[in-house]
Amino acid sequence: MPEAVLQQAAAEMLDWHDAQGRSSGMSVMEMSHRGKEFIGIYEQAHNDLRELLAVPANFKILFMQGGGLAENAIVPLNLSQGGAMDFVLTGSWSQKSQKEAAKYGVARVAASAQADGFTTLPSPATWQIGADSRYVHICGNETIHGVEYQELPDLKALGCNAPLVVDFSSHVASRSVDWSRIGLAFGGAQKNLGPAGLTLVIVREDLIGQAHPHCPSAFDYKLVADNESMYNTPPTYSIYIAGLVFQWLKKQGGIAAMEQRNIAKAQLLYDFLDHSSLYVNKVAKDCRSRMNVPFFLRDESRNEAFLAGAKAANLLQLKGHKSVGGMRASIYNAMPLEGVQVLVAYMREFEKTQA
Ligand SMILES: *Cc1c(COP(=O)(O)O)cnc(C)c1O
Repeated sequence: MPEAVLQQAAAEMLDWHDAQGRSSGMSVMEMSHRGKEFIGIYEQAHNDLRELLAVPANFKILFMQGGGLAENAIVPLNLSQGGAMDFVLTGSWSQKSQKEAAKYGVARVAASAQADGFTTLPSPATWQIGADSRYVHICGNETIHGVEYQELPDLKALGCNAPLVVDFSSHVASRSVDWSRIGLAFGGAQKNLGPAGLTLVIVREDLIGQAHPHCPSAFDYKLVADNESMYNTPPTYSIYIAGLVFQWLKKQGGIAAMEQRNIAKAQLLYDFLDHSSLYVNKVAKDCRSRMNVPFFLRDESRNEAFLAGAKAANLLQLKGHKSVGGMRASIYNAMPLEGVQVLVAYMREFEKTQA
């Protein structure tokens, strides 16, 4: 989270003020989601997000709940009509999506990088997409394996008319988005946009309104869209905080400026890793994530000492996901370049002491 956002939230935790500085006399948590104060907060957040991500007019932005994992079921319930879907497996998250979707239809594997230990991206030209595919699912950034698409696949160029579904949970707002290649994108807010509890779905209008009869009403994109994300009570406080993050992003210069900053941050860390004799990143260079940088100590018996020293230097949450091991630096939007510089300085010092 950007510190400026946390400070503003703290300052108006008990009494929210509008843009003109007028007191509302209540916390955002105490507002009715149908009251004029919260509607104002919601509309501002919605419009800022549309502007930031340059979402075209024929896409709906839905503020939902349930997180990325719930969308693994909600997407097939809304788009598959019990038919076939194609999944590109590039790490833990796309694997999970495919497994969950198999409960609701035929979830095929179009390509998989599992044999490479999820360190590469299968070239779109090799994907086996069925002619009857309802949609093709990819995970734009594999948070655990540190693999990211540098360009979205162009399904039309592959002769495929099915819409592309992208899980962008862990890199939304970190780079520009080519909406002409996307049918639906979804993501939990907690990596790059705000607190847990808010789930973002951005979906092309023509894909709305085909939900399976067993789809829970609160998860039917048509009902959610027709009710401006207020079919049921939305996660109001998380929307408010995400709205503050959107304003912060605009002040930073928008997504183009964030993307440049994220490129510089990632380059600093990868350059250091690639020139080190102690640390190693195993992901192919053309698909390395700008957000999540997994790395290993060549001498894994030093892992605990590395983490203890990092903690003493206030460098936190560096332990890799348990399914992969090693280390992982998550350098989301809110992490400044200075934070990565401090990390690299610590890693360089630690390496020296190991000689
Ligand atoms: C974190 C994450 C999820 C899971 O989100 P939840 O909100 O925990 O359900 C899904 N996909 C990706 C790519 C993630 O990074």
